[in-house]
Amino acid sequence: MIDEPWRGGERPTSPTSPTSPTSPTSMVRCDGVVQIYRARDVEVVALRDVDLVIDAGETVALLGPSGAGKSTLLWLLAGLLRPSAGRLWLDGVEVGRLDQRRLDRLRARRIGTVLQNPARNLIGYLPAAQNVAFAQRAVRRDRGRVRELLRRVGLDDAGNRPANRMSGGEQQRLALAVALALANAPALLLADEPTSQLDAASGARVIELIKHAAQADGTTAVVVTHDVAVSEALSRTVTIRDGRVGSEGRRGEDLVVVGREGAVQVPPEFHHLLPPGSMARIEPLDDGIVLRRAGS
Ligand code: ADP
Repeated sequence: MIDEPWRGGERPTSPTSPTSPTSPTSMVRCDGVVQIYRARDVEVVALRDVDLVIDAGETVALLGPSGAGKSTLLWLLAGLLRPSAGRLWLDGVEVGRLDQRRLDRLRARRIGTVLQNPARNLIGYLPAAQNVAFAQRAVRRDRGRVRELLRRVGLDDAGNRPANRMSGGEQQRLALAVALALANAPALLLADEPTSQLDAASGARVIELIKHAAQADGTTAVVVTHDVAVSEALSRTVTIRDGRVGSEGRRGEDLVVVGREGAVQVPPEFHHLLPPGSMARIEPLDDGIVLRRAGS
C-alpha cells in the first residue's frame, strides 16, 4: 500500500490493509496517543490521550511551553517513535501495524523532517546541492528541482559549499530544502523550530516556502514554533500543554478543547481568575457552562 503515490481522493483499500477507517484525506490521525519515556526506574509521560486529526494540505503550528510534549508529538508523526499506547495513522496507514521496513519506506517516500538541530538533517561533508539531491533518492533525480529549492531558500550561490561549512541559519534553510526535496515533494512536512536561527527576512522566506508547498503540492505541514510570525501565517494552531491538546486556533480564534474525559485546560492567561488547584462551581447555560471560582 505505502508504495503507491497517493494524494487526496479515495485511497484504494482492502479489508486486510491497515488503513484508517476515517476520512481518506486525513494525513494524520492520533487516537488516544500516549507516549511514555522510560529511563531506568523513572517514567515520564510526555503525551497523554492525544486526539488529533490533520487533513491533507493543512498547515499547523504546534505551540506550547517547553516540556509540553511538542517535539515528542513531532517525532511520532515522523515515524521516529511509536506510541506507547493509542493508535496513530500517517497518510492513511496505521503505524502500529507496519513493520520497521515498511515504516522506513513510508518515511523515505512521504515524510520530510527538519529536526531542531539543523546539522542532524544534513550530510556535513556533502555540498549543499548534493544534500538536496540525496533526498530524492527514492525517485528519479530532478536537478532543476534541486536548483529551484536552493533558490527558494536563498542558497543559490551556495550549492557547492559543504553543509558543515555553513552557518547555523544557512544549515536551517538547507535542511528545509532537503525536506522539501524528499521524493520531490513530501506528503507530510514536519519541522521543529525551523526559523529559530533566522533573521526576519529569512524567516519570512521559510514561511512562504511552507505555504507554497501546501498550495502547490498539497503538502501537509506541522511546525513546532515559538515564532508568532510562523503561527500567524499557518492555517491552524494546536497548543500542547502538559502532554495534552489544550487548545486549537483557526483564523485568529483560540478555542479550548474538551478532552475525552471531559477535561478542559484553563489557559494561563486566566490563571489569575481561576488558579490551578482552585475549586469552581459549574453553572449551566443554554449553549455551554460557566466556571465560577468557589469562595474560600
Ligand atoms: P517540548 O518539545 O514541548 O519542549 P518534549 O516533547 O521535548 O517537549 O518533552 C516532553 C517531556 O518528555 C518533558 O518532560 C521531557 O523532559 C520528556 N522527555 C523528552 N524526551 C525524553 C527522553 N528521551 N527521555 C526521557 N524523557 C524525555
